[in-house]
Amino acid sequence: MNEFPADYQSIVERIHAIDPVQYSKTRNFTNGAVTYLSPYISRGIISVKQVKDYVVSKGYKKYQIEKFLQELAWREYWQRVWQSKGNAILTDLKYPQQEVAHHQMITNILLANTGIESIDKHIQQLYQTGYMHNHLRMYVAAICCNMGKAHWVLPSQWMYYHLLDGDIASNSLSWQWVAGSFSSKKYYCNQENINKYTFSNQHNTFLDKTYDTLVTTGIPGELQETNELKLITNLPKNQAPDIDINKPTLIYNSYNLDPNWRKEEDANRVLLLEPSHFTQYPVSDKVIRFIIELSKNIPGIQIFTGEFDDLEGLYTAQNKAGCFVFKEHPAFMHYNGIKDERDWMFPSVTGYFPSFSSFWKKAERLL
Ligand SMILES: Cc1cc2nc3c(=O)[nH]c(=O)nc-3n(C[C@H](O)[C@H](O)[C@H](O)COP(=O)(O)OP(=O)(O)OC[C@H]3O[C@@H](n4cnc5c(N)ncnc54)[C@H](O)[C@@H]3O)c2cc1C
Repeated sequence: MNEFPADYQSIVERIHAIDPVQYSKTRNFTNGAVTYLSPYISRGIISVKQVKDYVVSKGYKKYQIEKFLQELAWREYWQRVWQSKGNAILTDLKYPQQEVAHHQMITNILLANTGIESIDKHIQQLYQTGYMHNHLRMYVAAICCNMGKAHWVLPSQWMYYHLLDGDIASNSLSWQWVAGSFSSKKYYCNQENINKYTFSNQHNTFLDKTYDTLVTTGIPGELQETNELKLITNLPKNQAPDIDINKPTLIYNSYNLDPNWRKEEDANRVLLLEPSHFTQYPVSDKVIRFIIELSKNIPGIQIFTGEFDDLEGLYTAQNKAGCFVFKEHPAFMHYNGIKDERDWMFPSVTGYFPSFSSFWKKAERLL
């Protein structure tokens, strides 16, 4: 299992190791040539544009890199949906989820004790590493929502809590895609599919059935016990940052840790960890440690646990105008100051597209 180093040089090396040809052939297998770049993209230390530009610069034929670019574009697509729909992405977006038995968490998913060996192993790995392969995320979401009939919200929060790459848009909307509230059909997986892509050879489980049988099966015994989940973020305690009020302050946060952003400017640099943000979107200690480690790539950064208003209060009335600079992001609409654009793969493809294919149709022409 891959580790996630936090120094910028190792991250750049990881970009250079991308093999888009192998990727398109093997990405669905747990040992496939996936990039393990998502924790860095989610945290805004690198951008999808930067990754796209690198792959395009290598001179591959379009058909060789298309699958990879398409997957990268899924992230951008979900971000555009978030920008357009705001907090509505935190609820059933296109259709009400069907056949919901409860709004709780399934105990045996939490305990990595479903009896499906590959699933249990990868949940344990999620706890240990903060990463889960995309296919496993789909399996786990399908087991929670479509076999266990949980509403998607609480299980998605549980997964987000543990992921180093936690991204509210990719997370909520992927769960909704699996649960059928962002797609017209629920996604199911059976044991045969899991055996094939995770190299297991298990039989006689609650998923060892044909798809026709699975869709009509009631909640398996293994998934019946549920509980309420309380997720808490432990933020570091620190003092107010030492701000030179004659200089602007660049605000970094858990979704913007870009060390190259306004690099040459003479400015205060603050990693702002807002308790209100983490109350709404809780994350584990491991995720907080990762964010802090990544922030060390930014020279002179100070970490501040507090609200934007507290930071604003450090400036005098005369110095307030234009003193904050930040990157646009739907989670941080309440900041005041100069808003920089993020680096998009397709800056001109904006607004809401009801499906990825409609987004991609427009985007791919620009490649
Ligand atoms: C239920 C569920 C929850 C998810 N939650 C998150 C989340 O919180 N944060 C997150 O970053 N991704 C999430 N994803 C998407 C996807 O699983 C991860 O982005 C991917 O597994 C990251 O690993 P990688 O970098 O090795 O990906 P690769 O396969 O190497 O892909 C390269 C990059 O393309 C993008 N990408 C690839 N697949 C997807 C996808 N399906 N959706 C969006 N972007 C994609 C990512 O930026 C990724 O880093 C979720 C998917 C599902 C099914």
